[in-house]
Amino acid sequence: MQDNPDLKKNSENGGDKSGNNKKILMGILAFALISTFFMNFFMSAFSGGNMAEIEYSDFISLVEKDAVNAVEFESDRLIVYADASKTEIPKEISKIYNNGEVIFYTGIVGDLELVGTLKEHNVKFSRKVKNSSPVFDFFMSWIMPILFLYIAFSLIMHFAVKKLGGGGGIMGVGKSNAKVYMQKETGVTFKDVAGQGEAKESLQEIIDFLHNPDKYIKIGAKQPKGALLVGPPGTGKTLLAKAVAGEANVTFMSLSGSDFVEMFVGVGASRVRDLFKQASENAPCIIFIDEIDAIGKKRDGSANSNDEREQTLNQLLSEMDGFDSSKAIVILAATNRPDVLDKALLRPGRFDRRIIVEKPDLIGREDILKVHSKDVILGDDVDLKAIALATSGAAGADLANMVNEAALRAVRMGREKVLQEDLMEAVEVIIAGKEKKDRILSSKEKRIVAFHEVGHALASALQKNSQPVQKITIVPRTMGALGYTMQMPEEEKYLMTKDEIISEIVVLLAGRAAEEIVFDTVTTGASNDIERATKMGRSMVSQYGMSEKFDMMALESTENKYLDGRNVAICGENTVAALDEEVLKIIRECHQKAVSILKENRKALDEIAEYLYEKETITGEQFMDILKKVNGDEISQ
Ligand code: ADP
Ligand code: MG
Ligand code: ZN
Repeated sequence: MQDNPDLKKNSENGGDKSGNNKKILMGILAFALISTFFMNFFMSAFSGGNMAEIEYSDFISLVEKDAVNAVEFESDRLIVYADASKTEIPKEISKIYNNGEVIFYTGIVGDLELVGTLKEHNVKFSRKVKNSSPVFDFFMSWIMPILFLYIAFSLIMHFAVKKLGGGGGIMGVGKSNAKVYMQKETGVTFKDVAGQGEAKESLQEIIDFLHNPDKYIKIGAKQPKGALLVGPPGTGKTLLAKAVAGEANVTFMSLSGSDFVEMFVGVGASRVRDLFKQASENAPCIIFIDEIDAIGKKRDGSANSNDEREQTLNQLLSEMDGFDSSKAIVILAATNRPDVLDKALLRPGRFDRRIIVEKPDLIGREDILKVHSKDVILGDDVDLKAIALATSGAAGADLANMVNEAALRAVRMGREKVLQEDLMEAVEVIIAGKEKKDRILSSKEKRIVAFHEVGHALASALQKNSQPVQKITIVPRTMGALGYTMQMPEEEKYLMTKDEIISEIVVLLAGRAAEEIVFDTVTTGASNDIERATKMGRSMVSQYGMSEKFDMMALESTENKYLDGRNVAICGENTVAALDEEVLKIIRECHQKAVSILKENRKALDEIAEYLYEKETITGEQFMDILKKVNGDEISQ
């Protein structure tokens, strides 16, 4: 859907790049040389250089001349401390120690009388347990090999990566990787973004500034440097950013937050620097940092905080402060986790504008469907509004996907047009997964599933507040559902009353209730129903203030509300226990209610379930027909 014909990897000019490589190579060589030098220095310092080798026989004669003060036995040689005044000093020896000693060494010849000779001439002798200091040992056995490996590995990677023609690789140290995407024209305009009226309005000013910076500069107004697009995944944040560039007709440079983060400290920061440098060369332009939470997380100073990320963030902050605001560069960023962003990013002069990109409402969904079906040949029976109604909660990306799925299905069916049934099937695929015709249920299981699903549907139809059913099926789906009841809202709802939530919980629990009543047994097939019902019941108590016990007290708050955030308790432990009890009470009541509704309508339950068992899929109308026939005119929907 978003093919980018002009998209090109913006490789920096080649000379610069190879220059960088050379620098790195030089750096490594210098490092190797220096470390070798240090190693030798340490070696000589610790093993006390400045010694000359002498023959063993010379050594013995020195002992016999009483010129030797002490002898130290080493594993492979003897160190001889001799009196300089009584010794001829060979020219290799440049140093005479303070006490007038010179040091020689000589090989070991297995002289059995040596000890005796030494004793005779009063020479001190000893054997050191260890020949070197622990620091030196540690250095030699740990640091050196690691350094060596690091250098070797780096060099190998460097040349391997270069040979493969890849850019960054592990040796991207200090080099800004060519991951900046520069597009002269995005080819996307606001026309391609359906709905999102408010977001577009907020962005309009930015577009105007990019068109016409002088107007703002003249009057002395400072333009917002950056805007943050916030919203759930798939709602069109990236699309909107591109559309802004398209509308303003400026260069679009985009980079994802994770592109900055690499193994080596300092890479991200240098990428940020580079990005801004390129941007100022290409002004007017838009810099778009997607998924900014990857680098913009709060710096919490905890032990496991990530230095690299912080450096990158700091660089970003200082670049944002530093660049010339008259240069017509606007920075957009997108995230679905605004709550984790560092405060410093959000302060005035940085991403001070927050543009909320919400999931589309009914009209928005219809518009998005229209935009994406523009190039699709639709049959006459297609009613996009009905599809929009059935897809409450879907984001733009889901809807775009649905239209495509429908088109694919039409092709599979050998049709030349997309019909409503293709679209409906696509909706179901997105909601419940593909039909799985090859999964054969035993007839007993199939019967249980039929009663379970009809239980849901009946509870829904019989409670005034519930939505009528659209379709019931017991054909298994890939996402685990053995059957399901598709409900069809008649209008978009933004608020739910307490009664509506209760009746929805009853509907969820009615599947299992039907199994209990009819088969006097329970199965594992209700786990998802139970989970959802419990969640709703819990929210009633903990967040919506709908229980008597806790009145309007908040017991839980939602984290990451743009992702499927989890609820965290914000109350004491005892209160959590009481909350659980309260939820259980709601669930019990709803369960009872489901059972009694179905018991009262046992005849309808049996008839519809048998019919469903036979047909496998029935429509909402067929369902209502049987219900009316059984119940007379009592029920009118
Ligand atoms: P986000 O960045 O918010 O996760 P994207 O901008 O990448 O989402 O959207 C993904 C796709 O979904 C887009 O390429 C587009 O096809 C479709 N889409 C999302 N929102 C809209 C919209 N409002 N209008 C038209 N298409 C949309
Ligand atoms: Mg995106
Ligand atoms: Zn169920």
